[in-house]
Amino acid sequence: MKTFSYDPLYLFIDGRWLDAEARDTVAVVNPATNAVLGRVPLADASDLDRALAAAERGFATWRRTAPAERARILKAGADLMRERAEHIATLMTLEEGKPLVESRDEVLRAADYFEWFAEEARRIDGRVVPANRPGVLQLVKREPIGPVAAFTPWNFPAITPARKLSAALAAGCSVIIKPGEESPATALALARALDDAGLPKGVLQVVFGVPDAVSSRLIASPVIRKVAFTGSMPVGRLLAERAAAGVKPITLELGGHGPVLVFRDADLDAAAAGGAANRFRGTGQVCISSTRFLIQRDIYLQFTERFVAATRALVVGDGLDAATQVGPLANARQLAKMESLVEDAVRQGARLLTGGNRIPGPGYFFEPTVLADVPMSARVMHEEPFGPIAVLRPFDGLDDALAEANRLPYGLSAYAFTRDARTAIDVADGLEAGMIGINQYRIVATELPFGGMKESGIGSEGGTEGIHHYLVNKFISQV
Ligand code: NAD
Repeated sequence: MKTFSYDPLYLFIDGRWLDAEARDTVAVVNPATNAVLGRVPLADASDLDRALAAAERGFATWRRTAPAERARILKAGADLMRERAEHIATLMTLEEGKPLVESRDEVLRAADYFEWFAEEARRIDGRVVPANRPGVLQLVKREPIGPVAAFTPWNFPAITPARKLSAALAAGCSVIIKPGEESPATALALARALDDAGLPKGVLQVVFGVPDAVSSRLIASPVIRKVAFTGSMPVGRLLAERAAAGVKPITLELGGHGPVLVFRDADLDAAAAGGAANRFRGTGQVCISSTRFLIQRDIYLQFTERFVAATRALVVGDGLDAATQVGPLANARQLAKMESLVEDAVRQGARLLTGGNRIPGPGYFFEPTVLADVPMSARVMHEEPFGPIAVLRPFDGLDDALAEANRLPYGLSAYAFTRDARTAIDVADGLEAGMIGINQYRIVATELPFGGMKESGIGSEGGTEGIHHYLVNKFISQV
């Protein structure tokens, strides 16, 4: 049997790879087997202070580095990520659990972000604004905002760091990033690629630690001028309060509860089979996942049958096994949450059409689960499950469907399936979501802004928009 090796774990501060030495550590566990893969060193207060001082020096160098040179280094980093994709994907599957095919795709898409923003670095231009008085030259420049504190979760350990790092570094900012402690090796592999590509020391630091202690110290520091976070709403709110205390802008991506509106004239296979594939991808631990399937009443039965058949056909297992389509959940907390959401919905009258149980044996496996006719009072209709549970409900008309789709404070992704152009326009117009897929579930692309409305977040990452919040305006009025 093929053996897979895991990388040693470090902190990366001021161009140096620091191992645990006397620091506290925390175990990194393979969620498919419960085996301990390694131990991640946790930064203490003095490590964080060194990271801050390095980021301040790194910023002084990097902001003066020509955009073309920044672009060259980011592109070289992207090339190294692609060359190392197989190894990085294996690390990701070991520590996060997703199937290798998804890990490979994620590493390549992460590399694409570095290439995209390398190109954007060369287009940070300004304006010459005509003055009201003769003999006055007015210039508007956009400059890097300063050192960034970034926090990313465990579920997409390459793409969430990539979206933040690529844009911030392209803009000329230095960064201290704290990736999720559950899946640290992937982010370290990205940092290694950037280091090998020639990123000057101090421009990027990677730290792990007790999350609350790290964020409170970094965000309170006058060195940090910008905060970026992906994770849950409560933590996002907390970091926004800390950022506000220092008048620092924050970019937030805080999850969703993606509605899917399926109208009677839809391509049912695309909506149902594609919907099951999309719902259970990443074991449902995907912020833009399709979660609430709202089906026009006359096709509810047909849709449900197809959706359940597609769900039952999914192969659940260790992501290292080539046949696997759905891996384990990330941790025991997630497993317990799925059990309690299903129990609550069924107790209140939902029909459990398939799944609903944890899978015995090692690892945090839960069956892909479909709940139909879920009452509005069920917790799963309000809370982001962030796991392999799909909820199905019928609707009668467009207005009902839109009202239900927009009911929650979330506004990240939404999907609709219809062959009618008028319905498609009305739905796209009426949905309160930052990212909308019509007749398809593939909505993420490097060149598009990724972000939400309402309490799903602030700002967008990716696209031409993604670099703006790492820049600040400065005008010069000269006589
Ligand atoms: P969480 O928000 O507690 O943790 C997400 C990330 O934030 C982790 O990497 C964690 O280390 C970090 N974090 C936690 N507290 C922090 C703090 N005080 N300061 C700085 N960083 C902090 O979420 P979780 O417990 O891992 O998962 C719970 C729920 O969060 C999920 O069920 C899901 O709803 C949501 N979530 C959303 C996303 C997303 O992509 N938007 C990702 C992960 C989790």
